[in-house]
Amino acid sequence: MSKCLYCNNDFSYNLTIKEIFSFNPIFEDNLCQLCRNQLKPLSSTNGCSRCFKPEIKTICDDCRFWEDKYNIINCHQSLFGYNQFIHNYFKKYKRYGDILLADLFLKDLLTWSQSNKFDLITYIPASKSHQELRGFDPVWEMYHRVFELTPLLIKVDADKPQAQKNRSERLNTPQTFRCINDQLYSSETKVLLLDDIYTTGRTILHAKMALNAIGLTNIYTFSLSR
Ligand SMILES: [Zn+2]
Ligand SMILES: [Zn+2]
Repeated sequence: MSKCLYCNNDFSYNLTIKEIFSFNPIFEDNLCQLCRNQLKPLSSTNGCSRCFKPEIKTICDDCRFWEDKYNIINCHQSLFGYNQFIHNYFKKYKRYGDILLADLFLKDLLTWSQSNKFDLITYIPASKSHQELRGFDPVWEMYHRVFELTPLLIKVDADKPQAQKNRSERLNTPQTFRCINDQLYSSETKVLLLDDIYTTGRTILHAKMALNAIGLTNIYTFSLSR
């Protein structure tokens, strides 16, 4: 019997056919089936091939904008569509600071990490003031048990949090990241950059530009939700 980290109900986990016949390790789930049914799994086949935006048959407007304006081809993957469940989850996790919820999607993240390999893995950090306010860095906390994380970026405090901005304010926010040090990396290095939620791609774009400055150009990005 397991206890769902989200709703606290006891549940027993039934292996899927795929898991029974799989040679990969099987990870325990922290999320019960009732909660899991409320998720909207994403893939490149039911969304934008560059960022997994759902219900887009080709390449979405945001990805076209980044390509036209900055010559950037997004290479983003995401597990779940942003919906009411994900919204409530992040509210509990980030706004109310329930740190135990960092592990809610551990199984999904571990499974994804099995089939996606990188030379270097880093993440979008919280700004110092947010981290102090909350007591932890939500992105680091969510991924550090899954990946070996190398901190590379620092977030400079912005005028107001992303969540309080409208779409055009978000798209036009100035650069907010810089690198921790100026050690140069080879451009061959295959980097994974992690974030929690992907909205317009602006945050990730800025972080990528900061990483370009230390030689990292082969950058893949991932978020739990988008
Ligand atoms: Zn549950
Ligand atoms: Zn897209």
